[in-house]
Amino acid sequence: MIKSTRNEKPNIGFDLCPFIVIWEVTQSCDLACLHCRADARTCRDPRELTTYQGRGLIDDITGFGSPLLVLTGGDPLKREDIYELITCGVEKGLRTTVSPSVTPLLTDGSILKLKKAGISRMAVSLDGSTPLVHDSFRGVHGSFRRTVEVLSLCALEGIPIQINTTVTKYNIGDFDSIAKLISGFSPVLWSVFFLVPTGRGRAADSVSALEYEEAFAKMYELSKVMPYDIKSTEAPHYRRFAAQARVRESRAGKRPAAAYGGKRDAIGRAPRGINDGKGFVFVSHTGEVYPSGFLPLSGGNVKNESIVDIYRYSPLFREIRDYDRLKGKCGACEFKNICGGSRARAYALTGDCMESEPFCVYVPKGYEAGTSGRESACEAEI
Ligand code: SF4
Repeated sequence: MIKSTRNEKPNIGFDLCPFIVIWEVTQSCDLACLHCRADARTCRDPRELTTYQGRGLIDDITGFGSPLLVLTGGDPLKREDIYELITCGVEKGLRTTVSPSVTPLLTDGSILKLKKAGISRMAVSLDGSTPLVHDSFRGVHGSFRRTVEVLSLCALEGIPIQINTTVTKYNIGDFDSIAKLISGFSPVLWSVFFLVPTGRGRAADSVSALEYEEAFAKMYELSKVMPYDIKSTEAPHYRRFAAQARVRESRAGKRPAAAYGGKRDAIGRAPRGINDGKGFVFVSHTGEVYPSGFLPLSGGNVKNESIVDIYRYSPLFREIRDYDRLKGKCGACEFKNICGGSRARAYALTGDCMESEPFCVYVPKGYEAGTSGRESACEAEI
């Protein structure tokens, strides 16, 4: 693996160092999820990074300091070296987490092995509060029952849990019940994914922009009372919603929800909002470096270049972090520095990753459609 030869010292600025590095260790998976970003198949791709290359990548990632390292898939358990890779990350001082698929590979024994390897957290997907909703989503009968067993075992073993839920038109009506169900497993974080139509995800499966707002309102209220943190994934406009709600509540003399979560674990929370390519970087199973797993534009390949150099200096990553180059409503928006819209969804639906977020109802102050927005941007009132 190529190490960066440039001389900058790591710091906490997202132009230099991401908060999260996600490595898709394989695209192979035995589930058949409706919305799968990776369009996963059961067989492994021979072009995957080898164990040696993976260890080199992990070493190179330390050039960012100590970002959170997430080993995802596909199903990471499809790789027999997954425990070695986790241990490598832990030994290098990286908070290392894993997102296994709930398949027969995720036995009680393998969960205990993941714990022993040193994971800081395990992420598990739950997309419905009943077998009917969850199993039809995941494409495998019995997945809900096993997911509940896995979550129960993790709670018993003291393994910090993150629960991921992808919101689509098939489960939006189940939102409240899912929120209630997961509190029984004491997760540290509920990550609510909003569908990006890439891989097997289809635009027709998305909820409407108005339903995003309704889901945001629920997330905001739940964040005040639930014993776990709640964050959005590929919906940074939740931060705009929450900022507006906090202002309204402060003015009304009410106590607003915390800005960046109050519940702590070994991982901690990002000190400010992250977005595609801005605090966040994704390495594909073949080593391509993307701003997001939902945004398949490559800044370079870790087989040829340092991930540090790609993240900091590639034209793609520089552009995507430059919010003066955002177009349409996002370019005009007084919230753009805390939001910026999903760059992945903009790309998936318009072919331009700097276009406006297509699923945001907010109209910036003074915005006129057809302008670049830069002329009409106002001071934030947040
Ligand atoms: S217009 Fe764009 S930047 Fe503004 S809140 Fe909506 S998505 Fe975020």
